[in-house]
Amino acid sequence: MSPPGNRSLTTTPAASEKMAADGLLALALRCVECGADGLAKTAPSGFQCAKCGARFPQHSFGGIPVFLSSRSPLKTEDVLAYKVEPAALGKNAARRHWETGRLQELLRGVSGSRLLNCGSGDGGDRRWLEENGFSVTAFDVYPSSLTDCVCDGHELPFADEQFDVVTSIAVFEHLYDPFQAAREIFRVLKKGGALVASSAFLEPYHAESYFHMSHLGVREVLHRAGFVEILIRPGWSGLEALHSRFWIWNQVSIVRRMSLALDRTAFRLGLGLWRMAYRLKGKKPTDDLDLTYAGSLQVRAVKPL
Ligand SMILES: [Zn+2]
Repeated sequence: MSPPGNRSLTTTPAASEKMAADGLLALALRCVECGADGLAKTAPSGFQCAKCGARFPQHSFGGIPVFLSSRSPLKTEDVLAYKVEPAALGKNAARRHWETGRLQELLRGVSGSRLLNCGSGDGGDRRWLEENGFSVTAFDVYPSSLTDCVCDGHELPFADEQFDVVTSIAVFEHLYDPFQAAREIFRVLKKGGALVASSAFLEPYHAESYFHMSHLGVREVLHRAGFVEILIRPGWSGLEALHSRFWIWNQVSIVRRMSLALDRTAFRLGLGLWRMAYRLKGKKPTDDLDLTYAGSLQVRAVKPL
């Protein structure tokens, strides 16, 4: 049985049907309805809990399983009716995620290679993560050609301590209960495992986002879940985050790139002026100015041994 990270990147829906199921069967699954460990594969397609009898069907595209409880606001029938666009995000999208914002530095030094990508979107990060040595399991609330299952981030279908690393990029702001989601991530991480994530702060509302947290909010959510060694630093700036969405011309890729570069420069200038003003007054800023005006935050946190 091959781990999910080894699946081909050029699978057709028919070929990926077997692989999606195989990849998940390499992991210990958990019933999202009753919390019991172990789900049996049932014919012709689907999974069933031996304890409570809950059934979890597979999407016609790629046989991607849909693990949703009756409590989730997401509905299994809606997911099954979802029409998948086979095209996945290009690797450039993953590069933007991981390389331009220095997010990849947070992955250095993590031990182990079994990685869960929470909220993987169309799955473009998978290729980049696999090239960097990780065996990837990916999910989102809708199926795509590079995801392994559909589930709700508040109720993960994995048994305890299955993963060395959990990544969650620009997902936390879309969760209606970030505290619950953080507890679930903590549960499925192995002891000593790490969460590497980013979360919106001064970015405007977008795509049904709920909580745009400051660094104190992020720290509180992770601390309450049990995480330690919580490192938080700024992602892109608040100016970039606001302007890139607000000005309609930023929908044009080249204009957006130029606009982002200008905003980065303006941001550095603005922070420089604030620092100079503090120095002239002989004072120190009471808060970290980079975090105060961050558009998003990047975080690494560890589950204690
Ligand atoms: Zn069950």
